[in-house]
Amino acid sequence: MKQIIVLTEHRQGEIRDISFELLSGGKKLADSIGGNLTAVVLGSGIDAISNEIKKYADKVIVADDPVFENFNSEVYQSALAEIITTEKPFLTLIANTAFGIDLCPALATQLDLPFATDCLDVEIGDELKVIRQMYDGKLNARVALRNSESYIITMRAGSFPTEDLNLNGEVVNAEIAIPAEPDYRKFVEYIEAATGDVDITKSDIVIGIGRGIKEKDNLKIVEDFAEAIGGVVGCSRPIVDADWLPKDRQIGSSGKVIKPKLYIALGISGAFQHTMGMKGAETIVVINKDPNAPIFKEADYGIVDDLFKVLPALQEKILELK
Ligand code: FAD
Repeated sequence: MKQIIVLTEHRQGEIRDISFELLSGGKKLADSIGGNLTAVVLGSGIDAISNEIKKYADKVIVADDPVFENFNSEVYQSALAEIITTEKPFLTLIANTAFGIDLCPALATQLDLPFATDCLDVEIGDELKVIRQMYDGKLNARVALRNSESYIITMRAGSFPTEDLNLNGEVVNAEIAIPAEPDYRKFVEYIEAATGDVDITKSDIVIGIGRGIKEKDNLKIVEDFAEAIGGVVGCSRPIVDADWLPKDRQIGSSGKVIKPKLYIALGISGAFQHTMGMKGAETIVVINKDPNAPIFKEADYGIVDDLFKVLPALQEKILELK
């Protein structure tokens, strides 16, 4: 039976959201080929993680050893190469995160397997095809991989919705030689990014501002608006680059991932690096004067107009309703 493997990504005891996304998407793909879904968990003292993951997989392969306590791509590569060689999965799905990007190219090279990065979707037919973005998200390309019995793909966060799979996969120990951490590459320590006075990941309402706010002085208008409706202000990367807001307010692939009840995007174009961080919001309102701005694809409600015209009217209306 064909098998799809998903590598579980976890950090300091917490399973990362993308692992559940990959397992949910992986299960659909496995069903479509009459196959089964296997999760791989590498770590140290990971019973709690494996017990959670088994609800999302038909089988869980676990390697529990102190060498896997913190992510080291060389150690992971060695373990995964052995697991893939033994299990011969049709497809291995890994998150396109700093972790996956570090690990996968060398893994695919070692195993000489077709490999595609940063994919948004996978289509299994006569050939295996993936959807990837090109030209900064302006085009999607359908790419066929060379025929093989096994493939490795890294998936972009948010590509598959997380679903409750209600499985109860069998947990088995990986039959592998435990690798040693090489002298030339050792994990040293985690350094937590400093958090400021506002935690944008905890607020139910986030107002995201982008280059469309034009000047630093205009921040005040947005901060007043956010305060009036009980929200906090986050931003796209150019706002941080300009030093108008601190880095911990940045939303996106190199910033924070937020899932508020309401996200209002003001003057943000919607580059994928930004939308990756906000597309999980329950309701998304977009205000942008360009009707073709890609961010409208994510919007539940969109207003095509000048944000400086819309914002006062919106604030008045919200306060009236409150
Ligand atoms: P722009 O793309 O310049 O968009 C401004 C928008 O404002 C336009 O759509 C315009 O129509 C609109 N506008 C202008 N004036 C008004 C007005 N008066 N009223 C209404 N609308 C108006 N970006 C992130 O956000 N987060 C990340 O984590 C991130 N990580 C990155 C990582 C890498 C490796 C790279 C290469 C890039 C990353 N970026 C990130 C940058 C990203 O590619 C975009 O450049 C950025 O998101 C664009 O920001 P923006 O939408 O504010 O600006």
